[in-house]
Amino acid sequence: MNKTVLVVEDNPANMKLVVMLLGTLEVTVLQAFNAPEALDLAHTGHPDLILMDIQLPGMDGMELTRILKQDETTRPIPVLALTALALKGDEERIMAAGCDGYIAKPIQYRSFLAIVKQILTPSAPSQGIRP
Ligand code: MN
Repeated sequence: MNKTVLVVEDNPANMKLVVMLLGTLEVTVLQAFNAPEALDLAHTGHPDLILMDIQLPGMDGMELTRILKQDETTRPIPVLALTALALKGDEERIMAAGCDGYIAKPIQYRSFLAIVKQILTPSAPSQGIRP
């Protein structure tokens, strides 16, 4: 797939897993381990999708998403939050920050790949997607 995905994730094991899963889609993967790296790659790497860990050291994924959505060059890039947060109200806060969707950790491989594929190829039939 001729697409680029930016993964923002500070945990090396989680990063490795997401990169491995994305590898099955044959997309180009950019890796950012903190907010400054993510901001840089969001501008220079021209990603088609950003997978955003919410809990990051320093600036968190919600603040980072707000900044990306306030910048007209990065605003159109879909942002999917990846987070273990599951308290009532978390999803609302994540969506209010400007994220376009939400995937709960631990990642369910099949639905994760189906959702990513659906976002990268909107015309593909959406069979069996259960977020
Ligand atoms: Mn994290």
